[in-house]
Amino acid sequence: MRFEISKVLDAIEGRVCTDPSLARAVLDLAEIIRYQDIDGGRPASLLRLGMVIDALSREMEEDSVQVYAVVHRALLSDADLTSNERMVVRRWADDGLVEVLDNPGDRMLEVADLLGVPVLTRVRFDGLRGRFPWLVEQPGRVVAPVPGAGGPVFIAHVGGGHAPVAGKRSPTGAKLLARQWRCPESGCALFGGGGGGGAFADLAGGADRSPAAQPPPSLRNGVPTCPRHGARLGDAGPRPRTEVLAVRVGGLVRRRFVLSEEQPVVAGRAPEQEGGIMLGQWLNDEARRWISRGHVHFELRVGEVIVTDISTNGSGIRPGGSMTESDRIPLAPQQSRVLGENDMIELYPGVQIGRAEELPTGAPFTPTSVMAEAPTMAMRLPRP
Ligand SMILES: [Zn+2]
Repeated sequence: MRFEISKVLDAIEGRVCTDPSLARAVLDLAEIIRYQDIDGGRPASLLRLGMVIDALSREMEEDSVQVYAVVHRALLSDADLTSNERMVVRRWADDGLVEVLDNPGDRMLEVADLLGVPVLTRVRFDGLRGRFPWLVEQPGRVVAPVPGAGGPVFIAHVGGGHAPVAGKRSPTGAKLLARQWRCPESGCALFGGGGGGGAFADLAGGADRSPAAQPPPSLRNGVPTCPRHGARLGDAGPRPRTEVLAVRVGGLVRRRFVLSEEQPVVAGRAPEQEGGIMLGQWLNDEARRWISRGHVHFELRVGEVIVTDISTNGSGIRPGGSMTESDRIPLAPQQSRVLGENDMIELYPGVQIGRAEELPTGAPFTPTSVMAEAPTMAMRLPRP
């Protein structure tokens, strides 16, 4: 039982991040884990995070969606969690996968504002409507996870919209996310290391974090500040440019990944390269035979996405996302091409990669549950 739960928590771990390009919603972990009405279980349970992530995945019609979690520091020693759950949350904190704060205050709304992502909360922030006009102007930017048949569903705080709706990065967010930042506190998991720091950069937490994946700073009196340490952040130069790409297999978006100027990415059946995007688990036998271990190489150069076929069998380009066979342009092994705004590269029929905004799920959606490994006892849901 314990082992099974550990596997679920591992699966959930892959769905929490503070990467501004990948987080699709923001939530307060201390709040979510206490939604006892969702499963009628213990006062606090980390599995509820998985249930809410599943609900988000269903709403966004996309697999592997990730969430930005702010975590009150008291949660790291919350006696309502099991010791295993506390250990897991501490690990997430150490790895910078979640943002730990002494007092979260309105940080959740600030993150939502800077990144343009929806907020998943039951709390009403009526007093902050002046500061964050989208709280009233954009229904769907704040939605409450509530019990539903077969798992949580979302209801809007304002207006009629029920589904969580993304906005745009605020102008301040765009400005802050154009730079990389350095926290003076040694071992800062959020703003340490990455980006070629000082002598001890490799000892600091988050040293292997790409500067392109740094979370948004907190603004205090107009000064970029580390939300964890309250320290003023140093400007460490421009942040590398990024493009968010998505993998679609069988009409369903399976995952997103970030391509940055500093880090090319290889996608294929089972790439050997570090940071490679493995597609094998979504492929049928024929596709698995066709697609090479490392099949296509992506590079971001002066704002252009350049794709190079590095496979044995070749690929094809679908210009403008056209699914008409006569439009498909073959891409022979070793050939390169600039990927146009709406273009997709097709590794095998039905296996496509393109810019995330241009690649919606195009088929009836059956998401893979992050809770798939959950023992039935923990998963007992209220009857519809
Ligand atoms: Zn810090």
